[in-house]
Amino acid sequence: MLHRPNVFQIDLRAVAACTREIRTVIGRGRPFIATLKAGGYGYGVLPVALTVLENGADALSMSSLHDAVALREAGIKAPILVYAGTLADADSVAVHEEYSLMPSLHDEASFAGFAQHLKARVRVAVKVDIGPERIGVPLSQAREFIRRVHAHPRMELFAVHAHPNVQHGDGEGVRECMQWQYDRFVGLHQELRADGIDVPWFALASSKVLRMPGASMALSAVDPGAALFSSLSGGPAQAFAQLRTRLLAVRTVERTEHLQQAAFPMRQGMRVGVLPIGYSDGMHRVHAASVLVRGQRAPVLGKPALEYTRIDLSSLPDAQVGDEVVIIGRQEGAVISPEEACAFQRAARVIDLALQLGPTVEREYIGACGSPLSFSQP
Ligand SMILES: *Cc1c(COP(=O)(O)O)cnc(C)c1O
Repeated sequence: MLHRPNVFQIDLRAVAACTREIRTVIGRGRPFIATLKAGGYGYGVLPVALTVLENGADALSMSSLHDAVALREAGIKAPILVYAGTLADADSVAVHEEYSLMPSLHDEASFAGFAQHLKARVRVAVKVDIGPERIGVPLSQAREFIRRVHAHPRMELFAVHAHPNVQHGDGEGVRECMQWQYDRFVGLHQELRADGIDVPWFALASSKVLRMPGASMALSAVDPGAALFSSLSGGPAQAFAQLRTRLLAVRTVERTEHLQQAAFPMRQGMRVGVLPIGYSDGMHRVHAASVLVRGQRAPVLGKPALEYTRIDLSSLPDAQVGDEVVIIGRQEGAVISPEEACAFQRAARVIDLALQLGPTVEREYIGACGSPLSFSQP
């Protein structure tokens, strides 16, 4: 009641369907780590975690220690792999131990930090960089690094993971570049075997890898994130159900002066609607150039302001304060799909829309029984 009426509605039935689809693709026995980075890609960590664990995921992963601790405090017992993100100081190491979180050692400093501060023996992962040039032990040093981790008395080496990186789409050389990264990672696996080091989870299959035909790169564990929210195979499951608000004010343009200098094409007599959502909420990065009011399209006027967006209601003389406004989704048979919004925004994936919506936008969940559950924080 105290929020502005901005609601991002998330379909957990779609998350469940996407999770089951991934399970079908990878087969029964293979560990499935569901990645919930960035607050579960904007969809919310706890509701998504509960849904994926109920529908075939075995473990979770994320970079935020804060989110990992919140999941433990909510009673989640599944293994949690923590990606690089927090410096390995005494406090962070103690939190990993206390909440049974598996850290990703990704360079000498993180190895040294855990070696210095660990009090008991814990499961650890090593992150290897096979191509993105972003984070992880460079492949050229990985074998020797992993041998030292394996030999450490307070470290149980449980996972080695990598995150391949290629440009979006199926452009020239994309498959070959992915294959090159995969081959390097498999080469490391063979070297470790030769050293007598067996790692339970050897994983590089993020969503893009699983989308390649046959899931032939699934190795001994997978860690997809984006594919929890939109069907891996391009099927209909889509977790982004709706983004809506309400009409806050309606006004008629009276001025005749300086119409040329206005922030949008303005005419005297034009009916302007004002929405209580703006660029501080992410509106400028998610809208599809028009919104739905009373089942009709109303164009967005100019750029969203900090907390307001104007729309043209000239062809909707009956629209009034309090009317529901759908920015993405369905209304009375009309629809603005997330894909349409992506195309207008030049966003690659629907998760890139969800990631723009700040904590000021309330999350509403449609569960398996169709009853909306509200969580005020993402
Ligand atoms: C983000 C991430 C993933 C999941 O990637 P998606 O493309 O969202 O499936 C897997 N592994 C690591 C290390 C990551 O950082």
